[in-house]
Amino acid sequence: MDFDLTDEQRLVQKNVHQFMRKEIEPIAEQIDREDRFPVDIWKKMGELGVLGVTIPEEYGGSGFDLLTAVLVIEQIARTCPALAVSYGAHANLCADNLSRNGTEEQKRKYLPGLCSGDLVGCLALTEPNSGSDAISIRTTAIRDGDDFILNGTKMFITNAPVGDVFLTYAKTDRDSPAKSGITTFIVEKDFPGFQVSRALEKMGNRGSPTGEIVFEDCRVPRENVIGVIGAGIRVMMGGLDVERAFFSGEPLGLAEGALELARKYSMEREQFGKPICNFQLIKAKLADMYTEIEAARGLVYRAATLADKIERGGKGTEVHKIAASAMLFAAETATRVVNQALQIHGGYGYMLEFPINRFYRDAKLYEIGAGTSEIRRLVIADEIIQRGLEYV
Ligand SMILES: Cc1cc2nc3c(=O)[nH]c(=O)nc-3n(C[C@H](O)[C@H](O)[C@H](O)COP(=O)(O)OP(=O)(O)OC[C@H]3O[C@@H](n4cnc5c(N)ncnc54)[C@H](O)[C@@H]3O)c2cc1C
Repeated sequence: MDFDLTDEQRLVQKNVHQFMRKEIEPIAEQIDREDRFPVDIWKKMGELGVLGVTIPEEYGGSGFDLLTAVLVIEQIARTCPALAVSYGAHANLCADNLSRNGTEEQKRKYLPGLCSGDLVGCLALTEPNSGSDAISIRTTAIRDGDDFILNGTKMFITNAPVGDVFLTYAKTDRDSPAKSGITTFIVEKDFPGFQVSRALEKMGNRGSPTGEIVFEDCRVPRENVIGVIGAGIRVMMGGLDVERAFFSGEPLGLAEGALELARKYSMEREQFGKPICNFQLIKAKLADMYTEIEAARGLVYRAATLADKIERGGKGTEVHKIAASAMLFAAETATRVVNQALQIHGGYGYMLEFPINRFYRDAKLYEIGAGTSEIRRLVIADEIIQRGLEYV
């Protein structure tokens, strides 16, 4: 496959990289230490045109393809993985999802604010007792005249403490089989009965706020239903391959950032009278990190290119296993790369003041969030067992 980037894609890549170096790099450690979401920078990201990267221009977005969106999240994660986590939840899980599945009125109402950064977007699916088994959610949405009344708790929701718009999954029919009784709603933070019950403190990705949400007789108007009532699973599954392809750019960028830090440190740190990059065991680490990153890049860009072309992903399509493979491999590459990058830093890498330990703490999330490595392996294995391999 040919991954020659267009001039426009290279320009976007360069602009985002320069923005991150100028605006974020100087404060990245502070964001981590204070666990502070950079609201002012968020607005600037809106001005840069990245918050609505895939949203059509008529709704205030930039209208780029998925590969360009991957290039953007890759550049953000290269400097500040935590910001990339918040960005991914906002730009893809919320805005892109709404753009693909919302009504004209919903898109006109919410997308311009999400693209400008006036609104922060979230996706609320996971619950305290429903993670990998996502369709076992227990939050209910019961019809009451023209409204729905939501009750339940959502867990680990990215951006919740600063969020305005929550794409929320709830059961509209408690008695029907799990798959058919789920509906997607747009919930606003000011709806009565909605509450962010607590902000969660994390080991990494500090600065990307995560929260628990409680719906207590939360009244949501009928016009805020996304798609068909009872067909929320179609909304959830319909964008899954796009979501995995997009998010695989995040660990790729983080791994690149970690390699850059390791390279620089290995050229500055001297032991036994010379920079440690002269030692063959250090050289081998750098070479292996680079090679794994390039292998991940091939898979990530291929998944994005493929996901862009398809009308429908899901079981039985090539993109289904490629997108899961890209996310699986990029996530585990990031974990391996940060481990070696920290090792190259020796004792200094273990100190909070050195940026590499931030990357080390941030990386683990990619094997857990938006579906775990185990679940990705199950998806890939089921596809190759049930549908074979297409090597000709
Ligand atoms: C920082 C952070 C941000 C997040 N942001 C969001 C968000 O914005 N919105 C949202 O809805 N969710 C969000 N999540 C939730 C995330 O998607 C879930 O954590 C993830 O899906 C795993 O669910 P779980 O944590 O309940 O783990 P569990 O599902 O309980 O899994 C525990 C372990 O069991 C394994 N396991 C489970 N089932 C199987 C199986 N069938 N076979 C083999 N192994 C299995 C898992 O792989 C894992 O290792 C976030 C999570 C984190 C940590």
